Amino acid sequence: MNSFSEQSKGNYNKLQKPSVLDVFCDMTLEKQVQKLKNDVEKNTELLNESQEFNKKITEFISNVSHELKTPLNVIFSAIQVLGLCKDYTDKEYINKQDQYLKIMKQNCYRLMRLINNLLDVSKLDSGFIKLNLHNRNIVSVVEDITSSLVPYMESKGISLTFDTNVEEKIIAVDSDKIERIILNLLSNAVKFTSEKGEVYVAVQDEGDNVYITVKDTGIGIPEDKLQVIFERFAQVGRDYINDSKGSGIGLYLVKSFVELHDGEVSVKSTLNVGSEFTIRLPARLVKEKCFEEASCENRKEQIGMEFPDIYSKI
Ligand code: ADP
Repeated sequence: MNSFSEQSKGNYNKLQKPSVLDVFCDMTLEKQVQKLKNDVEKNTELLNESQEFNKKITEFISNVSHELKTPLNVIFSAIQVLGLCKDYTDKEYINKQDQYLKIMKQNCYRLMRLINNLLDVSKLDSGFIKLNLHNRNIVSVVEDITSSLVPYMESKGISLTFDTNVEEKIIAVDSDKIERIILNLLSNAVKFTSEKGEVYVAVQDEGDNVYITVKDTGIGIPEDKLQVIFERFAQVGRDYINDSKGSGIGLYLVKSFVELHDGEVSVKSTLNVGSEFTIRLPARLVKEKCFEEASCENRKEQIGMEFPDIYSKI
């Protein structure tokens, strides 16, 4: 021991020069542990997200099944009643037949709407939906669809008003999609507004943009749900609304169709006061040979699908 320290002292004295001491420490293990920790965190996040999504899908399947089953049950029951009515005297039978045929038609519309919406969601997800853009007078597109619903709204005890700051504004839109957007917002407005309520639709020309507003005096939406409602399959908690289930895809389609037009949709709402949905559409034109008015061939069917009871009330 002594001889070793003597020797090292001797060596030190011999050198008497500054020297660098390199210390190497193998961090590989720590780094690997840190990377594993990060991976675990990321995977836990992904797992939570996918569990959340699975929960939504399960809820969605249960809601959609309910939405499919309800009209189907009604149609089935109507067929059974019609079968029983065979023994009625002629006039009675014809009255019953008309009544039950209307019920069957309404419920076929409900089914068609749901199935069309589901098909659109899957087309959107796979990028198959393309816009058929034409230069159209957006004021008349929105006004026509709104005014065709006035008698129906009145029959529900709800007043419907249309307002605009301009007579004509030509912009490039896919009129079918715009009609779907407005019908969807209006059908929600009716669904969540009680008798003596008001629904207001407005088109505002702001130069580079056109703003379409659909406002109601309905039950409103809780603040923490305002952004969620545009997500696929999203619905406001059932404990809050004691209405039929719905599919939670209407506003997802609205948002997607608006975004396909490079626009955006926003919402303001106050519980028990009402909701206001605003759509911004960029005012631009597409090159086309001639300007045609939008055809309203599909409109009656679209209205029938969004408002299944419409043709039996007016
Ligand atoms: P759903 O088929 O369930 O109506 P939507 O995507 O159209 O699906 O709407 C999602 C949810 O947003 C609805 O379930 C409802 O809770 C809420 N909502 C939408 N519009 C309104 C409105 N005008 N007033 C109150 N709540 C609304």
